[in-house]
Amino acid sequence: MRHLHITIRFLLLWVLVVSVLPAGTTEGAAADTEGNSARVFRAGAAASNVTPPLGLPIVGGWAPMPATHVHDELYAKCIVLDDGHTRLALVIADNIGMSREVCDAAKRMIHEHAGIRPEHVMTAGTHTHSSVSDRGVNRLMREEKLGDYQTLLAMRIADGVRRAVNNLEPAQVGWGSASVPTEVFNRRYYMKPGTPTPNPFGGEDRAVMNPGRGNPNILKAAGPTDPEVAILSIRADDGRPIALLANYSLHYVGPAAGPVLSADYFGVFGDRIQQLLGADRLDPPFVGIMSNGTSGDINNINWLKRPEKRWGPYEKMRQVADVVARAVHQAHQKIEFHDWVKLAAAQEELKLAVRKPTDEQLAYARKILAKPEDAKPYHRREKVYAQRVLQLHDSPDEVSVMLQAFRIGDLGVCAIPFEVFVEIGLQVKAESPLGQTFVISHANGSYGYLPTVEQHALGGYETWLGTNKVEIEAASKIVDRLLAVLASLQ
Ligand SMILES: [Zn+2]
Repeated sequence: MRHLHITIRFLLLWVLVVSVLPAGTTEGAAADTEGNSARVFRAGAAASNVTPPLGLPIVGGWAPMPATHVHDELYAKCIVLDDGHTRLALVIADNIGMSREVCDAAKRMIHEHAGIRPEHVMTAGTHTHSSVSDRGVNRLMREEKLGDYQTLLAMRIADGVRRAVNNLEPAQVGWGSASVPTEVFNRRYYMKPGTPTPNPFGGEDRAVMNPGRGNPNILKAAGPTDPEVAILSIRADDGRPIALLANYSLHYVGPAAGPVLSADYFGVFGDRIQQLLGADRLDPPFVGIMSNGTSGDINNINWLKRPEKRWGPYEKMRQVADVVARAVHQAHQKIEFHDWVKLAAAQEELKLAVRKPTDEQLAYARKILAKPEDAKPYHRREKVYAQRVLQLHDSPDEVSVMLQAFRIGDLGVCAIPFEVFVEIGLQVKAESPLGQTFVISHANGSYGYLPTVEQHALGGYETWLGTNKVEIEAASKIVDRLLAVLASLQ
């Protein structure tokens, strides 16, 4: 009797303890009751519509234009993985660049409603150039209050993750890669001696971005490409595809039809891989995802040759998506699926110095802004950059950026909040302690281009003060820290 009494008291205490656990421990509590001993791996996916209202400015080009039409819907595509102990969420949204504030707001909502800890959520934009921005005026300043679309985007991301959690089911996971060298070109070139290469600061560059197709003054590409298409594939125990995430180092494709919203080739790839896998109209729906690798200096244009034809709007992106999806589909047939793998996540804040103009650069910027409107410019973007130089001068001295990595079995998935040069992704892949690794850029924030120290020395658009906003050594610091974060994922 006394024994029973103690047991009841213990049970009451247990109920009390469980009922007062904060929302943040749901993840662990679920694991304790359902997971570890049975070692059941579960996965779910969902695509949440994030198409903005017409009228918001599309920001992919130099002059933002209000959106007048939707060519195809924009989505936040979400995958949730659960090894019985750890639950991870990965979100790729059709956006040109996600601000830290929107990513953080989405993570807070996901924590509150789905119990997944913010460190276990990775959020990235695809960098489609046919979308609106969710960023404020100065990306180095934290915004206190989110705008209407920023709020909507964060909410819809959180909804997508909650839906993916609702769709969790026993699953298998596998990874691998395909090679597609034909669709990626380094867009920075050395020019023949004597070719004028002015920059907006009154000087000359050694490397030129997008120098004109078939330009006879091109000497050679100033950097490499990465032909790898990394693949993460998730299927139900009966073989039904749940989701496929690909990662390719290609900036975007275009061309679009003016100020029209579109997910670019990232969206077409998702549709095409769905068709190839025979995964149309499944229940729950299959989610095909293309994430942006390290493509800061990469695009889809072969600058060494004159164009063989003029591509109509959306034509080229369909062709590229088809080539990439076919290669992925072929490689997919050789992927080894695992019934269970261990999941882990880690992140680190890295403080970077904001790049500041020198006294001479400041004086030059003020001189440019004082020039009469009709004066002949030294460089056609000199006024834009003069303003950016002044903005950097007035910006905070440092910025804290978040580096993050997921481990899915022997696969590493890294996240960097910049438009990352391809050399950086190649280095992380080569030096990672894991069997396979890839980098998602435009992730957990958005702070402009990230060239390597060597590429900084060549100059060119991506290195210009204003396009690039952080210290010249940022890339090597980021690679060092990311490799340490990867190594910590045991
Ligand atoms: Zn871009």
